[in-house]
Amino acid sequence: MDFNDTPEEASFRKEVRDFILAEAPLPKKGESGVEALMNSWEANLGWFKKLGQRGWIAPAWPKEYGGAGMTTVQQFIFNEEMALHKAPRPLHMIIGLGMAGPTLIVHGTEDQKKKYLPGMLRGEDIWCQGYSEPEAGSDLASLQTRAVRDGDDYVINGQKIWTTVAHIAKYMILLTRTDPDAPKHRGITYFILDMKSPGVEVRPLYNLGNSHEFNEVFFNNVRIPKDNVIGEENRGWYSAVTTLDFERSSIGSATGMKQNVEELIEYAVEHANDPTSTLNTNPMLRYELADRMLETEVARMLSYRVASMQARGLIPNYEASLLKLFSTELNQRIAKTAVHILGLYGQLKGDDAPNRGRWLATFLRSAAYTIEGGTSEIQRNIIAQRGLGLPRD
Ligand SMILES: Cc1cc2nc3c(=O)[nH]c(=O)nc-3n(C[C@H](O)[C@H](O)[C@H](O)COP(=O)(O)OP(=O)(O)OC[C@H]3O[C@@H](n4cnc5c(N)ncnc54)[C@H](O)[C@@H]3O)c2cc1C
Repeated sequence: MDFNDTPEEASFRKEVRDFILAEAPLPKKGESGVEALMNSWEANLGWFKKLGQRGWIAPAWPKEYGGAGMTTVQQFIFNEEMALHKAPRPLHMIIGLGMAGPTLIVHGTEDQKKKYLPGMLRGEDIWCQGYSEPEAGSDLASLQTRAVRDGDDYVINGQKIWTTVAHIAKYMILLTRTDPDAPKHRGITYFILDMKSPGVEVRPLYNLGNSHEFNEVFFNNVRIPKDNVIGEENRGWYSAVTTLDFERSSIGSATGMKQNVEELIEYAVEHANDPTSTLNTNPMLRYELADRMLETEVARMLSYRVASMQARGLIPNYEASLLKLFSTELNQRIAKTAVHILGLYGQLKGDDAPNRGRWLATFLRSAAYTIEGGTSEIQRNIIAQRGLGLPRD
């Protein structure tokens, strides 16, 4: 199998690379892409604007809606080059650009597209995703937040949980139950909610690393106009699945993992002559590093497989679960290897810590990787049933 770029792909890769090197505010040595994003917000807004001018802020969207209309292979190359150079991605916009926008393009009315897509592309409107509830996560179709029709509005009561960026979001994509008597997948309606609507209350939740990413959101008689339904009443499950298909796509992340392992190798080599270094006190760490490097190659092959299926018009099914499962568990192992290698220094935060404490933060955050976007157990169930043909348990 030939993994080399065709001449057209090589020329596109060069175009992307030249643009990144000329325009992107790239992170300093030891700084992560996310840190660079936070440390230089103004520079990044300028960078996002330049990406937007080329349609590259939404590479997968059709050109008519302001995207770049990139083919799957072009998206793969684009993602690889962005990760390779640690070019800042508009992470705060990911739910709008990566999930709500594509869902509106497929299921929204022309008025909804005109009203909501431009704000996403300009990076002005942050979106959040109101799917999970205290009693509905893996089994999402059990959600209970109620929407009842009243004149030209629906009245919403209930609660969502783990809602990332709800505290800064302007809009939410919201799943509700409109027909409690129908089979659970058939009584769901999908809305766009203005987060400023009276009766919406956002309460913060702090994660293991003590940072505020996600929230609880309560709805107390919140009114949403009927024009804000995406698709049809009671058929929201089908639009919701479209959003999840977009959420799953994580092609290109293998490049970032490989870079992280290379950074650890660099640290290990720099400290090779230090007798107190964990690499000298625990020789097994060398094998651990070698394993991580080997595993990033496996992740790369899995992501090539998913991308090549998409490029041929096939919809990756259990293959996407293989990639999600392997990559998120590998990310956790890489973070663990990092804190093993750093030894006691791995517990430090702040400017004087190795890599400014980034590995500690990554280690603490990594617990969530195998939960968000569908847990590892759910991915294993999909692989067992759809990939291996085993019966449901
Ligand atoms: C960092 C982070 C960000 C998130 N952001 C959002 C967001 O923005 N919007 C949103 O709507 N949600 C968000 N979520 C929620 C996420 O989608 C859910 O946490 C996830 O789907 C799991 O649901 P749950 O937490 O209710 O766990 P549960 O579904 O209750 O699962 C509990 C445990 O049981 C296991 N389990 C459940 N069912 C099965 C089964 N059939 N077979 C075997 N094992 C099973 C699970 O794997 C898990 O280990 C986020 C979560 C995290 C961690």
